[in-house]
Amino acid sequence: TTRIERHHYDVVVIGAGGAGLRAAIEARLAGKKTAIISKSLFGKAHTVMAEGGAAAAMGNVNSRDNWQVHFRDTMRGGKFLNNFRMAELHAKEAPQRIWELETYGALFDRTKDGKISQRNFGGHEYPRLAHVGDRTGLELIRTLQQKIVSMQQEDKRTHGSYDARIRVFDETTITELLLDGDRVAGAFGYYRESGEFILFEAPAVVLATGGVGRSYKVTSNSWEYTGDGHALALRAGATLINMEFLQFHPTGMVWPPSVKGILVTESVRGDGGILKNSEGKRFMFDYVPDVFRKQYAETEEEADRWYTDPDNNRRPPELLPRDEVARAINSEVKAGRGTPAGGVFLDIASRLPAEEIRRRLPSMHHQFKGLADVDITKEPMEVGPTCHYVMGGIEVDPDSSAAYGSVRGLFAAGEVSGGMHGSNRLGGNSLSDLLVFGKRAGGHASTYVDQLAARPRVAVSTVETAVETALAPLQRDTGENPYTLQQDLQAVMGDLVGIIRRENELEDALGRLAELRERVAKVSAAGGRRYNPGWHLALDLRNMLVVSECTAKAALERRESRGGHTREDFPTMDPQWRRINLVCSLEGDTVRLDRKPLPKIRTELLNLFDRAELAKYLTDEELAEFDALAA
Ligand code: FAD
Repeated sequence: TTRIERHHYDVVVIGAGGAGLRAAIEARLAGKKTAIISKSLFGKAHTVMAEGGAAAAMGNVNSRDNWQVHFRDTMRGGKFLNNFRMAELHAKEAPQRIWELETYGALFDRTKDGKISQRNFGGHEYPRLAHVGDRTGLELIRTLQQKIVSMQQEDKRTHGSYDARIRVFDETTITELLLDGDRVAGAFGYYRESGEFILFEAPAVVLATGGVGRSYKVTSNSWEYTGDGHALALRAGATLINMEFLQFHPTGMVWPPSVKGILVTESVRGDGGILKNSEGKRFMFDYVPDVFRKQYAETEEEADRWYTDPDNNRRPPELLPRDEVARAINSEVKAGRGTPAGGVFLDIASRLPAEEIRRRLPSMHHQFKGLADVDITKEPMEVGPTCHYVMGGIEVDPDSSAAYGSVRGLFAAGEVSGGMHGSNRLGGNSLSDLLVFGKRAGGHASTYVDQLAARPRVAVSTVETAVETALAPLQRDTGENPYTLQQDLQAVMGDLVGIIRRENELEDALGRLAELRERVAKVSAAGGRRYNPGWHLALDLRNMLVVSECTAKAALERRESRGGHTREDFPTMDPQWRRINLVCSLEGDTVRLDRKPLPKIRTELLNLFDRAELAKYLTDEELAEFDALAA
């Protein structure tokens, strides 16, 4: 028989990024015995890489900012496909979550009068991103970890052990959720180092596993982002929404090839950086879409004045939402106006004094010097789009973060959840999302546990199946190498389900994904269970595959262009499609896609917009309803 280490918890949080840590803190505060599980080392989650900041309408730099303006920007950024309730909760609660971080010990950059400083970012009307230089995620993670350590010290005093109420299992990968009927009963996985199995029995699980970027070759995401949480949720009977919407960040490094995809923070543009093509033209003025024309400068002079006088000038088009900028760069390169390495130029050197660049963007300065031998205080950077963030994710109840679908006891927060950002996320809105919905998920998971009459039980047979599935790649000797399979998957997704999409290519992609699914079912990993990355990847592949299928299917179905989904054959936004979410579920092994109407936006929230603006997004029918209510 196989040895399995067993643990019992009230709440198991899978993922130790901002969302997972904030959820775990809340569960522990609610008195729940809580486990935090992380595939990577503790503190190495994606959140740590976040550079620009966390968006919260604190109004510290411009007192006109408030939650309503933030809500409006978020809905605009997502092209009105957002779950409005999530966008509302996020805008309202983000400031409290940031101030709370200060009570945990966070040290944000300051304004002259000592308030938390806030910086400009694409799509945000006012300076709104609380930040620590360009290393905000590091401070966020550090602070949340510190809070957890302080709780553990308290537990040591009261319960005699640091791990009594909250324990971290890092370098531990969860491969299955275990169910008792329609209820979550636990999670199963392995220690990466020893390959030994571990089983958590728990009535509530919070998924906070982050994104899916590793299905693409050019990505800002690190090795862990294989869509595990998305796939775990699907297999447990939950649903995913908006999976066609991926964010291709406009500015990833394009040179040298070994670092292609690594992020160049949007703060470079927020702090004055401009984009130029190989002809030296500042091209973004040519790419302002109608829906945004009123808010963006028409001339370089006006754009430049905005940095010092934002009340009387409109913002530069470099600060359009990311989907717009990424498409523009893509078009410039396609039209033959790209740089030698196939990107465009991002210039901060001619815009700010060298000293100021080093002060505001220390990591970028260091990154380009070290990786590309480029001094960004003297020369422009070469940049191009990189797969960065998935807007789609687990469909959740906006207030409680409980997963929809047939499963109970499952909660999701952070990048792994869907709805909040609609078809495109604004920069800075993720870090705040993690805190707002992490807290909510942890709190509601705890309430769920309190209300249970009886605890679910883990059946022996489900554990046996989990063990078998996990060991299978090691037991086959004739199957394919996982690395080849991952490369093939990345090629399909990058070439056929990338930034610009077409019907025949998406159909082709689905055919290839079906073939890949059969190949992945026979994947084999050489070696044993002791630290074996090939085996780990073999197990990740089935997750990447099912999630990629959801993305490709939804991308084929959605016949319009909106946010992170661009169809060359349906290049405009279609108001009818704004009313529809594409919902992905699993039926046996088959990915199923359904259409579901979006919840109706509450009237008082619609009233925050001009009718003229609403007319760009809503159907005639919806507008007539709006007019009738206004009359
Ligand atoms: P993550 O921080 O991604 O953490 C996921 C956790 O889940 C990890 O601990 C991982 O090990 C664990 N995990 C995954 N699968 C498993 C499994 N099977 N078993 C166990 N554990 C698992 N957003 C902003 O708002 N502002 C920014 O300035 C910003 N800058 C960014 C810069 C970069 C380079 C990148 C890549 C992203 C940036 N983002 C930014 C986006 C933001 O950082 C992420 O969306 C966010 O951190 C996701 O947080 P999360 O808590 O949902 O998950």
